[in-house]
Amino acid sequence: MSKVLEVKELNFHYGEIHALQGISLDVSEGEIVTLVGGNGAGKTTTLRSISGLLGKITSGEVYFMGQRIDGLKPHKIASIGLAQCLEGRHIFGNLTVSENLMMGSYKRKDKGVSDDLDYVYGLFPRLKEREKQSAKTLSGGEQQMLAVGRALMQKPKIIMMDEPSLGLAPLIIKEIFEIIKAINKDGISVLLVEQNSKAALQIAHRGYVIETGKIVTSGSAKDLMNDETIQASYLGKK
Ligand code: ATP
Repeated sequence: MSKVLEVKELNFHYGEIHALQGISLDVSEGEIVTLVGGNGAGKTTTLRSISGLLGKITSGEVYFMGQRIDGLKPHKIASIGLAQCLEGRHIFGNLTVSENLMMGSYKRKDKGVSDDLDYVYGLFPRLKEREKQSAKTLSGGEQQMLAVGRALMQKPKIIMMDEPSLGLAPLIIKEIFEIIKAINKDGISVLLVEQNSKAALQIAHRGYVIETGKIVTSGSAKDLMNDETIQASYLGKK
């Protein structure tokens, strides 16, 4: 399977803080890969370094479909097929649901935009029902759906998601994770960052565990779920 995303020895500093200390990971075509870890481990920093939002990385290399992308501007990285759903959603509250979705596709020049809008509304009927409503009136779960929908409108090869379950009720979390599985079945790879490690490992093919800026373990999701140290540290089992 070819690699959609490959990160090699990524180092990142916030001033004096060495937040990422040689992170290497990859995501192949058709995979859901999860990056799990505790507060402040470096999960968000990893995603934002890959998508270019943090500017220049200290060292390392990032490849998308074999093309080197570290050093490119975030909009360029997004336009070649790597989408990111940010933690905290970052939707445009004063725009309608459909306007928010169209923001995801404004860089595209192909003619498939209206088909993709139908695809997104098919995945999220609740967004279709609320297409003319301003985004700020949506519930937290619906806003998360909108963020995922907007990322899909970029027609990405891979979506990176930062804590899609954050602050949501269990039923909505279940729904969001089902959608992630469905998107993946439709051919989009997923790099999923979660504190909800159990839910993430249940839908992922593989996982990486990050602690204080370093990958400490990786493997198939099944092996990670059965690993006693991981159970004790991240899955709430003793
Ligand atoms: P959480 O799940 O709590 O969001 P995380 O695993 O996503 O955690 P990061 O947000 O990537 O962790 O943070 C990694 C480290 O970098 C932490 O020590 C954090 O304090 C530090 N850090 C993050 N953002 C900044 C910033 N803008 N300036 C300085 N240090 C930062």
